Formats: sequence, C-alpha cells, structure tokens
Amino acid sequence: MPVNLQKAEFVRSAAKAGDFPRDRLPQVAFAGRSNVGKSSVINRLLNRKNFARVGAAPGKTTHVNYFLIDGAFYLVDLPGYGYAKVSLAEKQRWARLMEEWFADPELMTLGLMIVDARHKPTADDCTMARWFRDSGKPFAVVANKLDKLRKSEIAPNLARIRETLELDETVRLIPFSAEKGEGRQALLDLILDHARRQE
Ligand code: GDP
Repeated sequence: MPVNLQKAEFVRSAAKAGDFPRDRLPQVAFAGRSNVGKSSVINRLLNRKNFARVGAAPGKTTHVNYFLIDGAFYLVDLPGYGYAKVSLAEKQRWARLMEEWFADPELMTLGLMIVDARHKPTADDCTMARWFRDSGKPFAVVANKLDKLRKSEIAPNLARIRETLELDETVRLIPFSAEKGEGRQALLDLILDHARRQE
C-alpha cells in the first residue's frame, strides 16, 4: 500500500527520554541549525503550508516533535541548534536531550541533516554530522535554499559541504529548495524506500 502523505498528524512533543515513542515504527529524524529551513523542508515534503511550524522562535524548541505519517513511520523534528542568543541553560538542555536521543539505538532509523546550500557548514554542523555518522544508522544531508544560489555556485558549494562534513561517497547529498520544491521527489523517495525496507 502506498503511503498517504495527507495522513500526517502531530503526535507528541518529547522533552525527555521517557517520552520518546518506542513502538518499532521507523523514525526519520531531521536536524539542522535554527533558521536553516527544517520546518519548511518538512512542510514541502508533505505539501503542507503550516504543518511543522515555520519561523518558530529560535532556541525555544528544546523538544523533539513527532509526526506520524499514515501510521507507517515518524518524521522526527529534532530541536534546532546554533542560535547565538540561547542561554547556557537552554544549550545544556538541548545537549542533554540530544545525548539521550542519540544514545538510544531503538529510536532513529534514518537521519537527515539539513544544511544551508549557500554556506560552508559550521562547527556545530560538523558535530551533528559526526553524531549521525557515529550512530551507525543510515543518514543523508539535504542542502536547502538551493534557489538562492547561482547555477555556477551549485557544484562548488555542494563539494564544500561534502568536504567540510567529511561525508564519504555512501552518504547522499540532496540539493533542495523548500521554496521551489527542487529535490522533493529525491528526498521523498529516499524516505519512503527506507520506511518500506523497515517493514
Ligand atoms: P527552521 O528554523 O530551520 O525550521 O527554519 P524555517 O523553516 O522556519 O525557515 C527559516 C526561514 O528560511 C524562513 O523565512 C523560510 O521562509 C526560509 N526558507 C526556508 N527554506 C527556504 C528555501 O528553500 N529557500 C528560500 N529562499 N528560503 C527558505
């Protein structure tokens, strides 16, 4: 049965390890810097306008948000990082939550990291890429805001992202524009293929 993306529902906002669902459904996790367009990527994937919240107050999101897609798998919105104005206490809360998340092999089945196609990944992005790599789970990188690049910038920017995040050739790097829809089908195919293989 094909997955019906229209059947997407918000199910839970988890602030501690005990609140993460452990029901053996695939969990596709999205991570990225605040403002990279993580909510917009999720909305674009589902072809929804305001499903995952766009432009939520940066740094106010020390929760892991779970969306259930057609009863088949979860899209998991990990809290954004790298926002300068966040208090130390909030940064520590974020780090603790992420440690709990990545320490539990029962949770994530596929990791997706969103970066900004325009920029060299930051030190925080590199740390996140390492967490994904060390998880031993499959992961891919989505280079969002592609529409903001000139054609001639695309290849060198993608190469810089791959090099900076130390992605080996097994890691997919998907050029994407949440604004224009470019890359949507490639990312969707990756997720649906993953979900199907976990059945
Ligand atoms: P989040 O904090 O990572 O969830 O980021 P949001 O989804 O709230 O997006 C942050 C800002 O970037 C918003 O103003 C979006 O409209 C904008 N944005 C997101 N994706 C794209 C994209 O692909 N292209 C362009 N031009 N803007 C984008």
